[in-house]
Amino acid sequence: MSPYVPGEQPQGGGWVKLNTNENPYPPSLRALEAVRVALVNDGAALRLYPSPDSAPLREAAGRFHGFDAAHVVAGNGSDDILNLLIRAYAGPGRPIGMLNPSYSLYPVLAAAQHAEVVKVEVTDALGVDVDAVAKCGAAVFFLTNPNAPLGVAFGTEVVRSLAKAFPGLLVVDEAYAAFADADCVALVSEFPNVVVTRTLSKAHALAGLRVGYALCPPLVAEVLHRVRDSYNVDRLAQVAAAAALDDREWLDVTVAQVRATRDRLAAALRKLGWQVNPAAGNFVLAAPVSTKRAASVETAAHCFEFLRARKILVRRFPNHRLTEKSLRISVGTEQETDVFLQAVAAWMEG
Ligand SMILES: *Cc1c(COP(=O)(O)O)cnc(C)c1O
Repeated sequence: MSPYVPGEQPQGGGWVKLNTNENPYPPSLRALEAVRVALVNDGAALRLYPSPDSAPLREAAGRFHGFDAAHVVAGNGSDDILNLLIRAYAGPGRPIGMLNPSYSLYPVLAAAQHAEVVKVEVTDALGVDVDAVAKCGAAVFFLTNPNAPLGVAFGTEVVRSLAKAFPGLLVVDEAYAAFADADCVALVSEFPNVVVTRTLSKAHALAGLRVGYALCPPLVAEVLHRVRDSYNVDRLAQVAAAAALDDREWLDVTVAQVRATRDRLAAALRKLGWQVNPAAGNFVLAAPVSTKRAASVETAAHCFEFLRARKILVRRFPNHRLTEKSLRISVGTEQETDVFLQAVAAWMEG
């Protein structure tokens, strides 16, 4: 099997890092304070194992979404949750399904369980073929919504019709939903076969902490609890994530800022003639063009290298027709966005 290939994490300073959709702002101060409190008395509490089922964290996630904790399973990043779902529900003869393109981790996790992968193509209009998903034969289908790397969001009504039509477990991977206009959390109480996964890595600016969770019907939660590691979220991560979830104000302010910068970035690139996808997450997928170069795989590669030489990192996805001519640009601070746009202007003249 081949491993997941993460975006580059450069060593040393001076990079404008717009390649892995991290939040450009520091996390909630309440999360830091919770870690400090957990470390009093020279960290004596670290002698003890954490809550095995992350109970206080699950309650905080429940409060955040209006569920009780029986609907929540916490994980070491939402990648842990995705892995648990595949371990529990997929395997030989029980394929996973996914949109193509979407998150390239799903096939890696499936391979480790000897589960086949069925890919359903995103349509040219950047939509979901509900019928194709319904008939794809997967035991578990992963719907990345908003889609990464495309950036588009599929409406709640489309996801509702998928939940009705698809006979297996429908997992809506909402890693970027906090940046979108809507989410599918309500479908978890409407359907017995809908799971929503969330992460603290993007909107909450805690990628380094590794916390994610599933919102799911209690029966699914029971199954996931059976297959997870007994202490799958560490003590510091539990308290910091719970405090971050309770700090709504921080989230509202930060998400509003990221959305404003995203919309400014998308508008600026459109004005330069780049082909820009609708962007619902904290990143923009856009195909570079200049007066000398049409949109193409080579143009995207040329622009990528030009930026990289100026210590600006973005991401390329050369393996799919809907992404190969494009760059995926994470939304940075206002200043990072200006540095990026200045470099783009220089590339366009070159
Ligand atoms: C970032 C991302 C995740 C992973 O989140 P972690 O909680 O950091 O593991 C899951 N799904 C998608 C689509 C992502 O982009």
